[in-house]
Amino acid sequence: MLSVSEARERILSHFQATATETVSLIASSDRVLGLDISAAHDLPLFDNSSMDGFAILAEDTSASSLTLNVVADIPAGAAPNVTLTSGQAARIMTGAQMPQGANAVIPVEDTDFNERVAGTAAPKTVSFQRKVNAGENVRPRGTDLHAGDIVLHKGRVLKPQDLGLLAMLGVATVQVFKKPRVALLSSGSELIAVDQPLEAGKIHDSNSYMIATLIESAGAEVVRLGVAKDDRESVTALFEKAAAEKVDLIVSSAGVSVGAFDYVKEVIEAQGKMDFWKVNMRPGKPLAFGEYRGVPFIGLPGNPVSAFAGFEVFVRDVLYKLGGRSDGSRLKIKVRCAEEIESDGRESYLRASLHEQDGIQFASLTGHQGSGNLLSLVQADALLIIPAGVKCVPAGQEVEALLI
Ligand code: AMP
Ligand code: MG
Repeated sequence: MLSVSEARERILSHFQATATETVSLIASSDRVLGLDISAAHDLPLFDNSSMDGFAILAEDTSASSLTLNVVADIPAGAAPNVTLTSGQAARIMTGAQMPQGANAVIPVEDTDFNERVAGTAAPKTVSFQRKVNAGENVRPRGTDLHAGDIVLHKGRVLKPQDLGLLAMLGVATVQVFKKPRVALLSSGSELIAVDQPLEAGKIHDSNSYMIATLIESAGAEVVRLGVAKDDRESVTALFEKAAAEKVDLIVSSAGVSVGAFDYVKEVIEAQGKMDFWKVNMRPGKPLAFGEYRGVPFIGLPGNPVSAFAGFEVFVRDVLYKLGGRSDGSRLKIKVRCAEEIESDGRESYLRASLHEQDGIQFASLTGHQGSGNLLSLVQADALLIIPAGVKCVPAGQEVEALLI
């Protein structure tokens, strides 16, 4: 039996990042940056005022009363065309470029002209009585970053604030990794579409909904191919469709156990190759990995919770790697078991809810851990990882938890 980490390494070594493409800035949200971004210019780009007020020479000021001649009016967006000298001031708005010669701004509220109604003309003179320090209320050029600084790294999933920064730097189009494309199919003659009435012995196909959205949550596009019946023709037809879609990966659920009606292995081997592994893991021991007509294939178990765990442990990181993402997979944190937990010695992923007490996260199992019991997965905040070889974790002991 393979260990979880051996199986992961074997799978991951087959994949590399997709090519990149260029998209508009607004379309780059949540996409993975395809190259390092360095700043084309300083930010702020010019010395500017952080207040509505008057640009002045700090050297003119003292604790006693001072009146200055207002020689210019500088709204935001204007290019100031004056050079202030001693005794002069310019009305200036927040974000407007500082005039030459000025090195500080006195806010309007500290002057005799506390007037901000739109359309009010600048006064001829302005008076105040306080010392102003050089640099006060001025945002100097380059305080945030300098031209040439690397501000975002390749492999980062772009967030809203990243788009804001890119816009500040005049980046209108962004090179991102192409989204990996994944064909998804379910297999099993018992499976009925969710909008069809159930019949004796049948169940709704739930895996395709869960796995499709898991694939999307990992930044990939999913091509849903539906359900193959448990016969050679039906399974072959769906794998042929998958290959024709020129996807980066085929993911299937079920049909890879050793049941008398499990045709997936046979169909794959007719046009490719397949390793069928037993991974020392619970849930989700059976895992298939191979290729069909040159397209990599991962076969997840059919039981819904096993399929979920198999996705999180094996498929998510494949999709991150294909998609060029540099961040790790789901967050793992340390939690304390609220109760004694038994395990069977396999590396186990147990459904647990978390609750905080005195700043410590405690984990309790969410009911029975059968691999078909999806409700206990729905109720879980995390999968507790009980390492291989451990059969009992006493209450209060720390374990790792994969946040879901
Ligand atoms: P198998 O791997 O085909 O032996 O399936 C294992 C278990 O998972 C059986 O109980 C199946 O009915 C169930 N199962 C298989 N595929 C799905 C699916 N798409 N949705 C829900 N349950 C499934
Ligand atoms: Mg089956």
